[in-house]
Amino acid sequence: MLTATHYVLANLSQFVSFKDGASAIWPSSGFYLAMVLLLGRRVGLPIFLSELTVNSLLFYKDIPTILGISFISTIEPLITGWLLSRFLNSNRSGRRLFESSRNVFKFLILILPSPMITTSFAVAVLCLTGKASWEFYGVIWQTWSISVITGRLIITPFVLVWVSQFWRRIQFKSSSVAEFAVLLILLLIISRFAFWVGNPVEYMMIPLLLWSAFRFGAAQSTLLVVVISAVAIFGTARGLGAFVQSSVTESLMLLQSFICVIALTSYFLLAVIHENRTAQFKLKKANEELEQRVTERTAELQQAKEVADSANHAKSEFLANMSHELRTPLNGILGYAQILARSKALPQKEKHGVDIIHQCGAHLLTLINDILDLSKIEARKLELYPQSFYFPSFLQGVVEICRIRADQKNIEFIYQPDASLPEGIQADEKRLRQVLINLLGNAIKFTDNGAVTFKVDVIESRGKHSKYIKFQIIDTGVGIAADQVGAIFQAFEQVGDQKRQSEGTGLGLAISQKIVQLMDGTIQVTSQLGVGSNFYFEVELPIDYNWVQQTNRCLQKIIGYTGQKHSVLIIDDRWENCSVIRHLLEPIGFDVIEAPNGQEGLNKMCSQQPNLVITDLAMPVMNGFEMLKQVRHSEDLNNYIVIVSSASVANIDRQMSLDAGGDDFLPKPVQADELFAILEKYLDIDWQYESEDKGISNTLELNDIAIITPLTEELQVLLKLAQQGRLKKITEMLEEWEQRDISYQPFANLIKPLAKQFQAKKIEQLIESYLNQGDV
Ligand code: ADP
Repeated sequence: MLTATHYVLANLSQFVSFKDGASAIWPSSGFYLAMVLLLGRRVGLPIFLSELTVNSLLFYKDIPTILGISFISTIEPLITGWLLSRFLNSNRSGRRLFESSRNVFKFLILILPSPMITTSFAVAVLCLTGKASWEFYGVIWQTWSISVITGRLIITPFVLVWVSQFWRRIQFKSSSVAEFAVLLILLLIISRFAFWVGNPVEYMMIPLLLWSAFRFGAAQSTLLVVVISAVAIFGTARGLGAFVQSSVTESLMLLQSFICVIALTSYFLLAVIHENRTAQFKLKKANEELEQRVTERTAELQQAKEVADSANHAKSEFLANMSHELRTPLNGILGYAQILARSKALPQKEKHGVDIIHQCGAHLLTLINDILDLSKIEARKLELYPQSFYFPSFLQGVVEICRIRADQKNIEFIYQPDASLPEGIQADEKRLRQVLINLLGNAIKFTDNGAVTFKVDVIESRGKHSKYIKFQIIDTGVGIAADQVGAIFQAFEQVGDQKRQSEGTGLGLAISQKIVQLMDGTIQVTSQLGVGSNFYFEVELPIDYNWVQQTNRCLQKIIGYTGQKHSVLIIDDRWENCSVIRHLLEPIGFDVIEAPNGQEGLNKMCSQQPNLVITDLAMPVMNGFEMLKQVRHSEDLNNYIVIVSSASVANIDRQMSLDAGGDDFLPKPVQADELFAILEKYLDIDWQYESEDKGISNTLELNDIAIITPLTEELQVLLKLAQQGRLKKITEMLEEWEQRDISYQPFANLIKPLAKQFQAKKIEQLIESYLNQGDV
C-alpha cells in the first residue's frame, strides 16, 4: 500500500512539476512522516522497499543511485519522526499537533533541519553518480529540500488529522456539509480567477481558510489547505496565475511561500481556536463544579438551618415553659403585694415595704420577660406598644428601684430630672423602664466608690406634640477600655473584670440598644478606664395632654361600684391564683366563686350563673381549652363572658385562647388595674373611687397646725436633697431630727408622706415657702 501510494504521489508530483522537472511539493515526504508518526519505526523497511521500487521504476536506472537515494529518503522521515515525537510530546496519531500554537511552532521548527541535511547527501549522490552536475548543486538542493519541507507542511497534518478523525467516526451534520460545499464553490471561483484568468486574487483564499478554521474543525481546514495548495501548484506549473515568473526558481519561491503562508495561518488559527475552546471548556467545567459545590453547600446549610431551627424551637419552648413556671409563683407574690397595698389597716411604713416587694416582683417579672425578649430579638419579632403614662412617677419608680441597690453598695445615687419634664407621655413604658433599669443597674454594678447620676433633660421641643428627651446615666466606676466599647452592645459580650461578669449575662445592653433603636434613638457611651462611664440616648416622646385627668382617676383607689352586685367565677387549680383575684374583688363588692378545674367550672356556671368567668388554661380533669369548647357549643352557656388568664404569655397562646372562644386575655401575674379594666369593659360598671388624700392636701395649709420650722441651714440641706431627688435621705434625716428633738415631728410629718409618694417637686415648693417666710 505504501509503495502504491508513493507511486501515485510521485506521479502526481511529476505531473505538476515544472518544465525542468523541479516540483513545488514532494507529497511522499509528508506521507512518510505521517506514517512514521502513526506507526513508529517499524515502517522504515516498507518505506525503503517502496523507495527502491518507485525510484527504479520512475527516476533512476543505476543501482548505486537507487540505493543511495532510497536509503537517504528512508532515514530522513525516521529522524524527523523521532524528533517530533520527542519534542512535541505527541502520541503517534499526532492528535496534539493542533492543541496549542506552541506545538505548531515546534512542528514547523522540527521539520526543517533533517531535510536540509539529508538533501545535501542526496544531491551529492546525484552529482557523484553523474545524474546532475556539481554546478547546479545549490539550485537542486534548494528546490529539493523546500519541496520536501512543503510536502511535510501540507500532507503530514492532513494525514494525521484525517486518520484520527476516521477513528473517532465524527458525524457531519447536513447543514455543515452544505456550508462546506459553499466554501468549496467560492474556492473554485477564486481559483478560476487567480489561475486561469490570471487576476492576482490568490490571497483571497485566506479568508476562506479562516472561515473553515472558525466554522469547521481541523479535518476540513487541513483538507482545504491541501486543495488550495494543489490548485496553486497545478495552475502555476501550467504557467497560469500570479506566481508565474520568468525563472522557475522564482516561480517556485513565490508558490512555496504562498503555500507556507496559507498552511501556517490555518494551523496557528486552528491551534488558537483549540486553546480557546479548551479554556472555555475548562471554565465551563469549573463553573459546573462550582455550581455543584454551591448546591451541595446550600443543601448542607439548609440542613444546618433546619437543625438550628429545631434547636431554636426547643429553646423557645424551654423558655416559654420556664417563663410559665416562674410566672405562676410570681402571681401570688405580686397579687398579694397589690392586695396588701390596697389594705387600709396597713401603716404607711409597711405599705412602703409592700410597695418595694411589688416593685421588686415586677422587676423580676421584667427579667423573665427579658429572656423571652431575647428569643424575640433573635427571631426579629420585638415590637413596641406605646401607651400614655405619667412620666414623673414612672421615672421616680425607676429611681427607687435603683436607689435601693445603690444604698446597698454605699454609693451615692443622684437623680436630676429637668424641671420642665412633660407629665403625660406616650411610650412603651415597660420597654423604657427596662432600658433605664439596665443602664442604671450596670452603672451601679460597675461602680464601687463615688456616685451614679441619673439625668433626664428636655433638649428640644417639637411643637406642642412631642419633646426630645435625653437620658444620661453617669457613673464614677471602673470604666471601659476604648477598644472594648464597640463590643459591649453585642449579645453575650462582657468585658473587663471577670469577677463582675459572673453577675450578668451580657444580654442587657444588646436588648436595650435594640429597644432604643426601635424608638429611633441610639445608646451611646463615652468612657474612660478607671474614671467612669457616661451612657446616654435621646428619644422623641409624644406628649399626652389628656393624661392629667386620666392620672387623677387612675391614681385614685377603687373602693366599689354602683348598681347591682356582680359575681365572678374563677376557674384555676392553684389556690393562690384564685385567692389573689378573690382578695382583689371581694373588698370592692364582688361575689367570688371558685372552681378547681374546667368540669367543676361548667357545673358552677350552670348552678350559680356568674356574670363573668376567669379561667386558667392548664388544669387537671378538664383544661381551659376543652371547657371553652364546651361553653361555646352549649346553648345555655354560649353567652358567658370568659376571660382567659394564663402565665403563658406568648402571642400564640393568647391567640389560641381567643380562637378557642375566650373573650379576652388577662396575663399572669394579674395586675389589679388590668383586672379592673377588663371588668369595666365587659360588665359595664361605674367604679366608685376613694376621695383625694386629705392628709396631704390639708398639710399644705400651713396655718392649720403650729409647726416648729427647722433652721434655714437645715432647710437648705433638705432643699438640696429634694432637688437631687434624694427622697429617702430626706426621710432618714427627718427621722434623725425627730429623735433628737420631738418638736420637729409636725414638720417631719408634713414632709415624710410627700417623700414616700415621690413628690419631690411638692417638697421643694414647701421648703421654699418656708425659706421665703424666713426671709420676710
Ligand atoms: P451584663 O451587665 O449582664 O454583663 P450588659 O449587656 O448589660 O450585660 O453589659 C455588657 C458589658 O458591658 C458588661 O459586662 C460590662 O463589661 C460592660 N458595661 C456595661 N455598662 C458598664 C458600665 N457602666 N461601666 C463599665 N462597664 C460596663
